Amino acid sequence: MSIKIEDLTYIYNPKSPFETKALDRVNLDIEDGEFIGLIGHTGSGKSTLIQHMNGLIKPTTGKITVGEFVMTNEKAKLADLRKKVGLVFQYPEHQLFEETVYKDIAFGPKNLKLSDEDVDERVRESMELVNLDFELLKDRSPFELSGGQRRRVAIAGVLAMKPDVLILDEPTAGLDPKGRDEILEQVKFLHEKYNNTVIFVSHSMEDIAKLVDRIIVMHAGKIELSGTPKEVFRQSARLESIGLGIPQITKLMERLREIDTDFNPDIFTLEEAKSEILKWIRSNKDA
Ligand code: ADP
Ligand code: MG
Repeated sequence: MSIKIEDLTYIYNPKSPFETKALDRVNLDIEDGEFIGLIGHTGSGKSTLIQHMNGLIKPTTGKITVGEFVMTNEKAKLADLRKKVGLVFQYPEHQLFEETVYKDIAFGPKNLKLSDEDVDERVRESMELVNLDFELLKDRSPFELSGGQRRRVAIAGVLAMKPDVLILDEPTAGLDPKGRDEILEQVKFLHEKYNNTVIFVSHSMEDIAKLVDRIIVMHAGKIELSGTPKEVFRQSARLESIGLGIPQITKLMERLREIDTDFNPDIFTLEEAKSEILKWIRSNKDA
């Protein structure tokens, strides 16, 4: 499903001393099947923006269209929209509440009025997608699991709804490097498998750079930059001026270019950097 956002403004607590303009005339088009990284520092409006996409909040002014659903301040048809757009909140494991992993993941599909067999199938499938062993874990309490596993149970609960659009709000926040890499791998795998629209919110350029087709950078309720990782990282001064950096490894490659312009600056991962540097060493040894 594609998403179109037109002149979207959102104000928290309007006409009160706590009034905050969280989104300021945002325009944005997301194509069906795009894999988007949404980045910006805390308070830039990321969570407010994505909550419009499944109708959790509705525009103060402006309009958002998700597939066939159109939402404005007056108009919103939410129950159907929420079946199509799956939103994984930040720290989603805090919302686990059932006594077993199975029941927690089955909760959404049950609400879709699926048969017990279909629900069972969905729970198995989505546990497999996030690499949780069904037989081993289905009857365990989520609270006995590790932080990374709990997070994946929560993600599986959203995947079990088979959403056309999958939105993850800082899904790696607070995880150790292993837990973080697992989530990144699984989201990537999911997107490759289903080619669904994915919006991955993060404040880590490192996480996003190696994952997504397009990066959207938010700042103070507006979209500051949008483009492929290469296009966005070329604006390193602008990124730094809004408190975001380019990945360390890209920064290293930029420095190396100051020594030798043969170095490719468009490098975002350790593996790419390694082979680029080895290539350089080999060609200079022969010279
Ligand atoms: P991000 O997800 O990028 O950190 P948010 O969308 O959470 O940004 O916040 C955007 C702005 O809206 C910030 O100024 C924040 O303080 C404010 N804000 C967020 N949620 C609320 C809320 N529930 N009530 C009032 N202000 C809020
Ligand atoms: Mg947020």
